[in-house]
Amino acid sequence: MDYAALRKRMVEEQLIRRGISSQGLLRAFYEIERHRFIPEQLGMNAYADFPVPIGESQTISQPYIVALMTESLELKTTDKVLEIGTGSGYQCAILAMLSREVYSVERLASLSNRAQALFKELGYGNIRLKIGDGTLGWEEFAPYDKIMVTAASPCIPAPLLEQLDEGGRLILPLGQGLGQVLTLVEKKDGKINSRDICGCVFVPLVGEYGYPQ
Ligand code: SAH
Repeated sequence: MDYAALRKRMVEEQLIRRGISSQGLLRAFYEIERHRFIPEQLGMNAYADFPVPIGESQTISQPYIVALMTESLELKTTDKVLEIGTGSGYQCAILAMLSREVYSVERLASLSNRAQALFKELGYGNIRLKIGDGTLGWEEFAPYDKIMVTAASPCIPAPLLEQLDEGGRLILPLGQGLGQVLTLVEKKDGKINSRDICGCVFVPLVGEYGYPQ
């Protein structure tokens, strides 16, 4: 399969055509081999315009949603980023290319271990993974300039707001089932502002400040 050609088409048809314009971000989508993050037998769907199963009943988001969420964070190369929901590791790889370092928490050990092995193989040196409940954040390395949650939560988990630096941005899907809204939160002068971006569908965030098991 000509993955490079599929990748180019994905960038042009799914991202540029829908208004994604950040050059650094588009470059990351051209360069990162999304098919490496997807179970081999589903490789033909790696660049398709829909979410793809990655095992354990979890999914890797549609490329456009990954791009939209990343773009809304307005990443700088000096940023320290926290991601909740490592999953396949694809979103994490995109974040790592556009920031200084990424800390990512995943509750399912099998997914985290698979991502860890892949990052090692691909030579990423600025990603640190942890297995645990990401609704608690990752206190040790806080505060973070940017935080991204890639599973849907009933509310903004309080520890994440605490671990977000002044002037920082947090993006997360809020709500349940088909009624979810992608929400961008900013912390400015100690105040929290949030605005809705669009409707979305994510798997649930399961944990102390998320949904029950
Ligand atoms: N960013 C991922 C998307 C994974 S789907 C990617 O690019 O592939 C969402 C992930 O969130 C799932 O792997 C799920 O296991 C994980 N998750 C759900 N609740 C969590 C929690 N409380 N802490 C950490 N990870 C969680």
